[in-house]
Amino acid sequence: MVLARMTWPDVDAADRDAAVLIPVGSLEQHGPHLPLFTDSILVTGVAEAVERRLPDRVLLTPTLWMGASSHHLEFPGTLDNPFDAMIGQLTGAVESLARHGFHRFYVLNGHGGNADPIGIAMRTLKARHPNLSLGYSGYYQFCAEQVADLLEGPYKIIRHACEAETSLMLHLKPEWVRFERAVDDGLAPNPPLRGGLFFFHEQTVDGVLGHATLATAEKGRRIFEAAVEGVTAELAAFAHGVALEG
Ligand SMILES: [Zn+2]
Repeated sequence: MVLARMTWPDVDAADRDAAVLIPVGSLEQHGPHLPLFTDSILVTGVAEAVERRLPDRVLLTPTLWMGASSHHLEFPGTLDNPFDAMIGQLTGAVESLARHGFHRFYVLNGHGGNADPIGIAMRTLKARHPNLSLGYSGYYQFCAEQVADLLEGPYKIIRHACEAETSLMLHLKPEWVRFERAVDDGLAPNPPLRGGLFFFHEQTVDGVLGHATLATAEKGRRIFEAAVEGVTAELAAFAHGVALEG
């Protein structure tokens, strides 16, 4: 079920045990070769594919596209959703649909910078409404093995505007990629700090963290399919009520 396409009587008639799936993206710099909307395109692509596989058990909301991106603000075009605003938007979406009887909510994240505000929003909601079943994760957590196997560069994880994200975009939206501008960037050895907090302009020249030039559409297809398969299994389990119900 796709919330944006439904009428209120459609929603009124919908199965309240369905898992409400809320994708969260960003609009932030992704180097000289990927569009600002990259994270939103990728997480929406995964979420839409999951809904198509579980149309009766998932209620997909539109993507919350404005992410927590203060660490990218030195690059023009980046929009930053302040933490409090983002927490308020997620809380509002969940509490609105909870008022209409839904009780299972899963936030699917497409941007690492959103992880903290999503966690605070969901943990606060759980404290306030103990009977709700809540879950959240990044789509990238479901394809980590494939990413480690497929990437040819020295970094074996999804970083930023990197080999993996560029591959995903070459698969999902190639017409929006300026591949001739792709660069390898942010390659200086990590500083010997476990808890350092850096803005992107302090770590990179062009806003890329990784080896974008090694990206291919075929790698992107395989990473995307692994993510869709993993998130589908997660949502199927969640919609079946793996979490305890009050
Ligand atoms: Zn990204």
